Amino acid sequence: MGCKEQSRIDLHIHSTASDGTLSPIEILDMARDRDLGAIAITDHDTVEGSREALEAWEPSTFSFLTGVEISAATLPSFPCSGSFHILGYGIRVDDPILNQTLDVLQEARKNRNPEIIERLKGMGFDISMDEVRDNYGEGLLGRPHIARLMVKKGFTKSINETFDFYLGKGKPAYVDKYRINPERAIEVSVGAGGVPVLAHPALLDPATDEPLENLLRDLKAFGLMGVEVHYPAHTRERTAQFIEMAEHFDLLMTGGTDFHGSLKPDVEMGSGEGGLHVPYSLYEKLMEKLASKTSRSGSGFPKTRPE
Ligand code: AMP
Ligand code: ZN
Ligand code: FE
Ligand code: FE
Repeated sequence: MGCKEQSRIDLHIHSTASDGTLSPIEILDMARDRDLGAIAITDHDTVEGSREALEAWEPSTFSFLTGVEISAATLPSFPCSGSFHILGYGIRVDDPILNQTLDVLQEARKNRNPEIIERLKGMGFDISMDEVRDNYGEGLLGRPHIARLMVKKGFTKSINETFDFYLGKGKPAYVDKYRINPERAIEVSVGAGGVPVLAHPALLDPATDEPLENLLRDLKAFGLMGVEVHYPAHTRERTAQFIEMAEHFDLLMTGGTDFHGSLKPDVEMGSGEGGLHVPYSLYEKLMEKLASKTSRSGSGFPKTRPE
């Protein structure tokens, strides 16, 4: 293992608990093989991936941080049509309020998936919810699983094509899902001992030219503590802007690849599409924040590999 100060980290990883294709254990194995310094598992609206990894993780390897990626509604002051996601790091996976909140989001997904299937059936595709469950039923199901089945059955050529023609926002089989307000997502993350971070700001797709600074200011007032500045889809220019904004608002900087296994075959754990290098120092700053929260509240997560 190389010097940890020079190692890469990846704080945005999906497992089979949501729409990733590797199990939490396989993710731990891959992180070790790739000599990463620290990782976090951040599944959509569930902590089950983090929980499983935490139980299996060996402190003698790399650092592991629990995480979650909560689907939030946009703020009325910042209308946007893209992905408004709040990452929660170092959360206690057994926190009752966090789990109750995630239960509501999971229930909303369970009601939405059959509606999507009904729409696809209405368009003539021979597909059922039972098939989706039989093929991918390990974790929390979403559009990517439906897309994978569409490809598997030969109805479409790729996941991307399935989103572009049927499942993407505004497409004929798209069904909206319930999301919680970002202030609530931030509150439950903090309540569970975690550090809330705005995910991939370049993917928000704002509907107006409202500056991102205004959103960060509002979210910071709700308790936001960080911004995901390093992300495969962030250009060099955007990354520089996000770093400047994080510094201006005194927010932590984080980064990760949004690794989904073979669902996003171009994205590799730890390096994204090849060039991503999220420095270990950002993990250390995140841990300092978690430690300061812990000393104040007497609870929290911190777990690091030994020095
Ligand atoms: P859902 O959680 O069911 O709303 O699905 C959203 C997830 O679908 C995102 O977080 C991505 O992982 C995935 N996704 C969205 N668009 C695409 C796309 N064009 N190709 C592959 N995956 C996508
Ligand atoms: Zn996903
Ligand atoms: Fe996301
Ligand atoms: Fe993600």
